[in-house]
Amino acid sequence: MTESPSSLSKSVLNPTLYRPDFPILGRQTNSGAPLVFLDNGASTQRPHAVIDAMSECYSKYYANVHRGIHTLSEESTDRYEQARRTVARFLNAASEVEVLFTAGTTAAINTVARTWGDQNVGPDDYILLTMMEHHANIVPWHQLSERTGCKVLFAKLNSEGQVDQEHLDSLWQQYGQQIKMFAFTAVSNVLGTITPVAAWVQQAQQHGAATLVDAAQAAPHMAIDVRQWDADFVIFSGHKLCGPTGIGVLYGRESILDAMPPFLGGGAMINTVTTEGFTTAALPDKFEAGTPPIVEAIGLEAAIDYISAVGLEAIHDHEQVLTRRAHEGLAGIEGLTILGPQDPALKGGIVSFVFPHIHAHDIAQWLDTRGIAVRAGHHCAMPLHKDLGISASSRASFYLYNTVEEVDSFVQAVSEVTQKFA
Ligand code: PLP
Repeated sequence: MTESPSSLSKSVLNPTLYRPDFPILGRQTNSGAPLVFLDNGASTQRPHAVIDAMSECYSKYYANVHRGIHTLSEESTDRYEQARRTVARFLNAASEVEVLFTAGTTAAINTVARTWGDQNVGPDDYILLTMMEHHANIVPWHQLSERTGCKVLFAKLNSEGQVDQEHLDSLWQQYGQQIKMFAFTAVSNVLGTITPVAAWVQQAQQHGAATLVDAAQAAPHMAIDVRQWDADFVIFSGHKLCGPTGIGVLYGRESILDAMPPFLGGGAMINTVTTEGFTTAALPDKFEAGTPPIVEAIGLEAAIDYISAVGLEAIHDHEQVLTRRAHEGLAGIEGLTILGPQDPALKGGIVSFVFPHIHAHDIAQWLDTRGIAVRAGHHCAMPLHKDLGISASSRASFYLYNTVEEVDSFVQAVSEVTQKFA
């Protein structure tokens, strides 16, 4: 690291200090242009600190955890459990047993739908979602519906790209205690909309419903306090916050996790096994069957240490600056519509946009010729795109290492698209 993050003011982030930490940012793309990586909503890049922590584990102390009494296994186990404690602190969880390692956000939501869902939801019940959910927070509930006969409700959006609170209120009024779960995103991966998590959790609690917060697009960009949110489940992926792929976190309230049946069966999640059956281990092992993502957890800890040292508040403020800059620049381009809130203050660092007659894939391809990586398509949010009357959009998404100059070259390249495809 070129300068200690702690030497920077919490609200001012200078990305050029951090860019050297990310080796991939120095490469060129196929077109020969320097890389401008604006696809962070899909997955971020990794700093040396994460790559080194994982490499150090493999080269110095790797062994399977929990099962050995030899030195390496003890060291690996210590580091794996230390990673859990770091995540618990990161989320302000009451106890580290509330932190379960999964393969990612998708795996975590599926775990809740399969276990808590099968145990608590019946044919007369409803699962409440919003229209801006990622498929990872839709399909597991459709599958639950197929298994149990429950129905899935969607809270509509208003023209500002936020959930229509009146419609949400009317759903609570109409279905009341038949809604067993309100599962929603903290930040939309398409619109960037930040949702009022604590208020919605309170509203759900008044109707006796459980709550699940998909924090995949929130945890990397803003400080999360699960006790302040008070949701029953909070979920995120490691790879979206500079950590490894193949690991995510399922935070669950201890009393609820205790009451839930295990999901996957196998080694590590049991207390005893006989020819007749088995008894389950205590938390968190009960939900971590088989060999867990050991090195990934160690990499995740390094990523959390890294972004915490940069400062979540500073990251959020920096992304606000970039988002505002992108909005201002894109606003001047004829025919372009920015999706979601027009006020950047209401958004995370995500800017999705459409042109009436230019396909999102053409835009992404053109930007690629300029070295600029954005995402194009439905971003795993088909119901949202259908609701907006479009089939695809282009999305730029920012992180701590992006610069204002990169945003400017992105805006410049988008403005050239109109001439290219006129
Ligand atoms: N939820 C949201 C809001 C997301 O943006 C994503 C990924 O893009 C997911 C869930 C799924 O995350 P993963 O692919 O890491 O399981």
